[in-house]
Amino acid sequence: MPPRARAAWTRTLGQLALVLAAALAFGLLLGQVWPALMLAALGVVAWHYWRLRRVLARLTSRQRQPVASGEGVWNELERQLRANQEAMRARKRRLIAMLRAYRAVAAALPDAVVVVERNSQRVQWFNEAATALLGLRYPHDIGQPMGERLRTLRISHWLASGRNAEPLLDAPSPTSADIRLNLRLIPYSESLWLVVARDVTKMMRLEQVRRDFVANVSHELRTPLTVVHGYLDMLDPEEHPEWAPMLAEMQLQSQRMTQLVEDLLTLSRLEAQEGIDSETVSMGSMLSTLRREAEALSQGRHLVTVEDAAGVDLIGSTKELHSAFSNLVSNAVRYTPAGGSIAIRLDRDGGGAAVSVRDSGYGIPAAHLPRITERFYRVSTSRSRESGGTGLGLAIVKHVLNLHHARLEIASEVGRGSIFSCHFDADRVQPREGANPGALP
Ligand code: ADP
Repeated sequence: MPPRARAAWTRTLGQLALVLAAALAFGLLLGQVWPALMLAALGVVAWHYWRLRRVLARLTSRQRQPVASGEGVWNELERQLRANQEAMRARKRRLIAMLRAYRAVAAALPDAVVVVERNSQRVQWFNEAATALLGLRYPHDIGQPMGERLRTLRISHWLASGRNAEPLLDAPSPTSADIRLNLRLIPYSESLWLVVARDVTKMMRLEQVRRDFVANVSHELRTPLTVVHGYLDMLDPEEHPEWAPMLAEMQLQSQRMTQLVEDLLTLSRLEAQEGIDSETVSMGSMLSTLRREAEALSQGRHLVTVEDAAGVDLIGSTKELHSAFSNLVSNAVRYTPAGGSIAIRLDRDGGGAAVSVRDSGYGIPAAHLPRITERFYRVSTSRSRESGGTGLGLAIVKHVLNLHHARLEIASEVGRGSIFSCHFDADRVQPREGANPGALP
C-alpha cells in the first residue's frame, strides 16, 4: 500500500477508535454502556454508507467533479478510482485517435481494400477506392457476402482457397469493363481476410503498347531482311574472291538478324495467346526429331543419347512444344564443348511427365539462375553470340511451358553441366497406344 493510502487507513481506524472510546465513556457516565456503543457503531456504519454513496455518485456523475481534497480513506479511495478512470479514458482516447488515423490511411489508399469475414465471406469494412473499383456501396454492402456482391468477378471460389489463393490478374472491374484489376487475398488474422484490388489498367495498356511495338518492329524488319538476305545469297564469293570474307560475315550477320526477328515474332505470338491447342503430341516422333536436330547441330562433336522411359504422349501444341524442346537441345549443344555428352529423356513424374535435356557443358553459376529465362539475359554475351544465340531461347521456353501450365526446372553446376527439365501435370499426359518404353533406336 502506498504511504498516503496507509496514512488514510490509519487515520480512519484512529477515528473509529476515538468514536468508540467516546461512546464508552458516555455510556459509563450514563450507566448505559452497550446502548451507547451500539448507537456509536450504527452512527459509524451510517456515515460510511453515506460516504460510499457519495463516492459512487461523484464517480458516475456526468459533470466534471473537483478532485476530493480530504484525508480520510474514502477521499483516498475516490482519488485512486478517479486516477484510474482518467488513465483509462486517456488510453481510450489515444486508441480511438490511432484507429481513426489507420482508417484514414486505409481510406486514402488508391487501392481498393476490403475486410472480409473468413467463414461467411461477408464484407466487414471497405475504403473509398473499393466503391470506385469494385462498386461496393456504404452502408448497404456491409455484411453482404463478397462473392455474391461481386458476382461478375466470380471470386467465391478464389476466396474459398484462402491462404493458397494465387493473385487474380487482369480481372475486369464490376464498375467498368475498361478498368482492369489485380486482386490479392491477404489472410491477416484467424478470422479476417483482406482483399486488395489494384487498378492496373494503365500498366496493362502500356504493356500492350510495348507488345504491339515489338511485334510491329519485328514484322517491319522481316521484309527488308529477306531482301538483303536474298541478294547476299545471290552474290557468288568465287566471282569476287577478295570479298569472300566480307560476304561470309554479312551472310552470318543477316542470318543472326533474321533469327532474332523470328524469335521476337514467336515471343509476341506466344504472349498474345491466351490458351493453347489440345492436340496429342506424339512424343515418339518428337524425341526422334530432337535427336536428329541435336546430331545435325553437333556434327559429331558430342555423344547424343535419347531415352523414353515413360511411353506417354503429351497434350498441347506440337509446334510450340517442339520449339521449346529444340531451344533446350540447341542450348545444350551450343554450351557444351566438343567431346561432351547430351542426354534427352522423357520420364514419368508422379502422375505427370518430364522432358529433360542434360548436358556435360559449361554450366551456369547459381547467381544467374533466377534471371536466366528473361529476354536477352545471358551469362556470357560473347559465348552466346559466338554460338549464334539470340538471348531469347529460354524466354520462349518459359512462355510455351506457361501456356501448357508446365514448369521449367534448372539444375546446373559450373564446369560439370546442366539439366533443364520441363514438368507437365497429369492432365497434360496421356498413355501412348502400344507404348514400349525404353531406349529409342
Ligand atoms: P541464347 O540465345 O543466348 O542461348 P537463351 O535464352 O537460350 O539465350 O539462354 C540464355 C543464357 O543462358 C545463355 O546466354 C547462356 O548463357 C545460358 N544457358 C542456356 N542454356 C545453357 C546450357 N545448357 N548450359 C550453359 N548455359 C546455358
